[in-house]
This record gives sequence, structure tokens and C-alpha cells, in this order.
Amino acid sequence: MALRFYNTLSHSLEEFTPGQAGEVRMYNCGPTVYSDPHIGNMRSFLLADLLRRVFDQRGFRTTQVMNITDVGHLTVDDVADAAGEDKLEKMARAEGIDPYEIARRYEEVFFENLDILGARRAHEYPRATEHVAEMITMIEALIEKGHAYQVDGVGVYFRVRSFPEYGRLSGNTLEDLDAGARIEVDDRKESPLDFALWKIDEKHLMQWDSPFGRGFPGWHIECSAMSEKYLGRTFDVHTGGEDNIFPHHECERAQSLCSGDGEFARFWVHARHLLVDGAKMSKSKGSFFTINDLLARGFEGYEIRYTLISPHYRQPMNFTLDGLEGDRKAVARLRALGERLRGEGASGAPASASAEWRERLEAAQAQFDACLDDDLNVSGGLGVVHETAKALGRGELGPDEAAAGLAFLEHADAILGVIFAESSQVEEGLSPEEQELLEARGAAREARDWARSDELRDALLARGIVIKDGADGVTWERRR
Ligand SMILES: [Zn+2]
Repeated sequence: MALRFYNTLSHSLEEFTPGQAGEVRMYNCGPTVYSDPHIGNMRSFLLADLLRRVFDQRGFRTTQVMNITDVGHLTVDDVADAAGEDKLEKMARAEGIDPYEIARRYEEVFFENLDILGARRAHEYPRATEHVAEMITMIEALIEKGHAYQVDGVGVYFRVRSFPEYGRLSGNTLEDLDAGARIEVDDRKESPLDFALWKIDEKHLMQWDSPFGRGFPGWHIECSAMSEKYLGRTFDVHTGGEDNIFPHHECERAQSLCSGDGEFARFWVHARHLLVDGAKMSKSKGSFFTINDLLARGFEGYEIRYTLISPHYRQPMNFTLDGLEGDRKAVARLRALGERLRGEGASGAPASASAEWRERLEAAQAQFDACLDDDLNVSGGLGVVHETAKALGRGELGPDEAAAGLAFLEHADAILGVIFAESSQVEEGLSPEEQELLEARGAAREARDWARSDELRDALLARGIVIKDGADGVTWERRR
């Protein structure tokens, strides 16, 4: 069966054909690196990983690009609010803070989370802050073509009315959007629908010189500029979470299609949102989970991965700790079988397995592939794997049958990434040297020597130790 996905752009299931035979170029909206990603964010990144693994297994040459949104929107005021200090201290801290340092720290957390969840690394992770020149070039082209306009001292806006197709991706019409946006009045914009390409705000901590004044780029323009740089104007797949569809992806299309020639992304694949216990994640209700929160509760990365990829990506996911607990048992059964077959099948050859087993496993594999090809039906694929695993577990297998069973599990796990994944739990105390660094950091904080305390935190981070300052004092955890 042919590979097919639900394309948000056509609002229908479509057979997937790449623009160039044998090659897939894919862009994934990546993390904003100013906080730990939560499990809803990670689910959308795992959708990208599933696509990538299916493309790889089907033999496509895949180029995967995921952006890092490190243009923070921290201002002097935000920093002051977050620090919870008195006014003078706030200002001192705001001046001393380096947003790049914060971004790099969270970028590291993001990559660790990807590894823990067994996501394959993309080929490029361009940082927005390193592509401002490309964004400026695109904004200049938009102004020149009449699709954008400058407002002195404020920035540059995209002229939405100049792009009649605006709204196609999100299933809106310009008229509907216009009616909805009228409440918001902003004299500086020609129309309330217009969105910022460049913003001027002297309180912003990250600033660049530009022909439109010293300021910083809007979020949407970064994806248009970076996808074009690494994948060309037209590419095959663009992914994100459903909350990216409007306005982010709608704006990306407008910018890219208006600034030059050619199509933009051909297939748009979006992950539905994630709920916890049936409601929106909330820090105050204790239902806000990061990957590290779950690791701290003793779950393994592959168990979390299993839970996040099992429900169909187009179904809203309801995450519960009980569900994760149940999935842990399901994964454990598959892993125990995998280990057993690795032992028993070590000296066997799959091709020499009995005809009955060969046929059965071939059919199971074809069924598994068909599920994945059918709009990434992971739960259907898991059903096939569990059913086959049950039969293998009960069967009297010789080394050849065990080797054939193992080959099937390995084929399925090239997509699932849970059966043969390594443990992500590391249990170790602090070395005396690390203990010393931790204590020195405590003393620096006591003395409100933030620079020194940050330096020591980084020294610990370099050793894989992440410090958390909580209400109950300082805690630490070791990461791989
Ligand atoms: Zn994006």
C-alpha cells in the first residue's frame, strides 16, 4: 500500500509522493528554548521522529531540519518579574543576564530529552539568532513586492490583504478572520490581521541592527527564512503541533509564497493537543509534566515514548500517570521477549525458520508496515506487534525461529524505538568534587553573587548535573 498522510493543507488524506523521487525534505517546527519542553511539545517532536523513521525505513533519502527558536522574548521587565527580587536587585540582575546563556541551557535540555525519548537527530538544527540576516533579506523582499510595510519606530508588518490565500491552511477565509479580528484595534497597523515581521522594543534583551531600525524578528519569519535556506523554497513535509496551524503556519505560508517564486511545503502534518487527566496541563493543578518530571518518578524514556506515540497523532491525547504505568507493563513484556529472542536466536538464521513461522512473521511484518503507511497508525502497528509477540512467547522456538522472531521485532522497533532502547535512568550520588561545587554555588547564592552562582551551575551542568532551585531548597539530578 502506498504511504499516505492527512494533509492539513488539503484537509484530506493524501497519498504521499515526494517532489523528487526517492528524496524527502522535511521541516519541523522546533522548540522555544526558554523553558523545559513539556510532554505535549515532545509529542509533536515525536511525530516528526515517527515520520522520519518511516521515511528512512521505506528507503527515502531524508533531510530533516528542525529549528531552534532562541530569539527569546525576554525584556528587562520579564527578567525582573521572574527573579522575584526588590527593584534595584531586579535591574542589576536584568542587566547581568545573558539571554543566550539561558537559551543554550534549555537547548541542552531539549537535546537530552530527544535522546531520552530515542528520537533520531535531525540533519540540521538551525538557531534563529544565527539567521537574522536571512530573515532581513526576506523582509526586504516582502516590502519591495508590496506585501509588507514599515511603521517608523514600531517595526515591519505583513500586509495580509495582499495575500488572498491567507486562511487556506487553517480552513478560514479572510472575511471570517477579518470579522474576528476587528475587536483588536491598533492604529499602527493598516489592518488588525497584519502581523509583525520585525519589532522595535528597546526593552527587549536581544537586538539586531536592520534597515528597519534596531530590533528583533517576529517568530513566523524565522521558519520561512530557515526552511528556505536548508530545504529550498519548495519542500515535502512541514510538521508542528495543531496550535501552530494558526497563526504561525498560516503566516509562514504567506511570507514564503509572497517573497519569491515556487510552492512552499507540500504536505502539512500536525499533532493534536495533549491533555492531562482530561484537562489542559496546569502547573497550579500539578498536571504539568516535563520529561524530567517523569524520569524523576522512575519512568524510563522508552516507556514515556511508548505512551506518547501510541495514540494516533490526529487524536487528542489524554495523558495519565495510570496510563503510563499500564504502558510500562506492555513495554516490559515486549522487552523481555526481545531479550529472550536475542539469546535464543543468536545462532539461528531467519531464512531457515520453519515455513509456518516464516509465513506468519512475513504476514505480521506486512501488516505492521501497512498500518504505519496508513497515516501513521501506530496503535494498529502495536496491536500486530503484541499479538505476534504473544504467539512467539508461547511458541516452542528453535534458534532459527527465534532469529526470525527477533528480526520481526527489530523491524518494528526501527519505528517504535521502545523494545531495544537503552535505559535512561542513571543512579549515582555526587562525587566529592561535585558536592563541593554544589556547596560553593549555595554560598554564592547566599551572597547574591549571581554571576558566580551561574558559573558554578554551568560547571555542574558540564558534568551532567542539573540543579533545580525549588521552594523546598536545591535539588539536583544527573542526566546522561
Ligand atoms: Zn515554525
